[in-house]
Amino acid sequence: MGRGALGIVRLSGPCALEIAEQLAGPLPTPRSAVLRHFNDETGAAIDQGLVLVFKAPHSFTGEDVVELQGHGAPVVLAALVSAAIAHGARAARPGEFSERAYLNGRIDLAQAEAIADLIDAASTQAARAAQRSLDGEFSARVRALTESLIALRVYVEGALDFSDEDIDWLGQGSLHARIAQWLLDLDALMQQAAQGRRLREGLTIALTGRPNAGKSTLLNRLAGSEAAIVSPTPGTTRDVLRENILLDSMPLTLVDTAGLRDSDDPIEREGVRRAKEAVHKAELVLFLADGRDVDANGRLDAEDQILLDAMPSGLPRLILLNKCDLTEQAPGSWQHAGEQGFRLSAATGAGIESLLQALRQHCGLADSHEGVFIARSRHLAALHSARVAVGTAQARLQEGAHAELAAEELRRAQQALDEITGPFAADDLLGRVFSQFCIGK
Ligand code: GDP
Repeated sequence: MGRGALGIVRLSGPCALEIAEQLAGPLPTPRSAVLRHFNDETGAAIDQGLVLVFKAPHSFTGEDVVELQGHGAPVVLAALVSAAIAHGARAARPGEFSERAYLNGRIDLAQAEAIADLIDAASTQAARAAQRSLDGEFSARVRALTESLIALRVYVEGALDFSDEDIDWLGQGSLHARIAQWLLDLDALMQQAAQGRRLREGLTIALTGRPNAGKSTLLNRLAGSEAAIVSPTPGTTRDVLRENILLDSMPLTLVDTAGLRDSDDPIEREGVRRAKEAVHKAELVLFLADGRDVDANGRLDAEDQILLDAMPSGLPRLILLNKCDLTEQAPGSWQHAGEQGFRLSAATGAGIESLLQALRQHCGLADSHEGVFIARSRHLAALHSARVAVGTAQARLQEGAHAELAAEELRRAQQALDEITGPFAADDLLGRVFSQFCIGK
């Protein structure tokens, strides 16, 4: 609901045509528009506009649908809605049109979610990716994986039925090769889905390092604001501070974490605890060190190295040697002992552009977005569960363990994939998905 040149009241369901007729008089033939007066419940004309009819099943919801396209005046729209309700309609729940489209088999669950993502898209890249998901590209890839998984299940379960024969069906190399190929296909899809999720949900980046390394200054520099408190006294950033910025329209959440050091102050200790938690949740860590503490060979200070060693392994990170304005070193890239990063100055801004370029690379913004589709954390979680289950099945078969165990894992993997497109989705999942929609979609 809002003010605008046009406003549309949409009716869907078995009584939609009847109710629309009461509001707007004789209806046009389906898929053609006529100009009509719209009446309130007393029969008085309150607006005029176009009437469009879509007969079931050829409509968005799969039911009879009528659109009354009037003027976008909130009072007029409210009067029209209450007239419709007086004639027997009821207000739609958030996402109910899409939910009915899903329940009537017009779209699958991932496509329904793509509608909401298209409406909420923060960038044209995200909108394009959502459109691709809405077209069913993502669903088609998931379905293809499901199909080959079913073929694997048929093979393994079939082999179980013939297990008393002499042929070792399950020991055959071709089965293992097929499973290995399936996992590769899944990994490729996961990678694209992860990129699609980043487009939608952005990326969380933790800034960490010793007190006074310049984390707050860098956060301010990146955010272009004075959100973080910068102070020359070590240990001032006690809470976890978040700043959302757009990098080429990709939402990034930067989390400035309390200086990671031991402290007797309970407030600071709490800050350190939250900082560690934020680091674990981040997808990229920017580790800041004072560039003056790096020795002539490019080796980090021992204290920095200890902190770095304590970071979760496998979490991508960049080392930023800050305050290069106070050193003899020019800004630019830096490498040492397998670590990579940049010399820069958060205070002057020198070297920041190289950092931004690295962030673009990391977010996949430097790549083309051809073929990326929007995806959600729940999709990635489902793909991940499928991967774990098939990986376990593979291990079971290789161990020569009971094939029933492998078959069960494959069944679980299929269940996980089904959750994405939703043929057997649980009611509470549907509730969660559709309640996040806006009203009227
Ligand atoms: P934090 O504790 O890691 O958040 O560090 P701050 O951002 O509060 O910075 C600590 C001190 O270092 C402040 O006095 C900053 O002005 C200073 N500082 C931060 N970055 C730079 C830099 O690139 N060059 C210089 N010269 N000083 C900096």
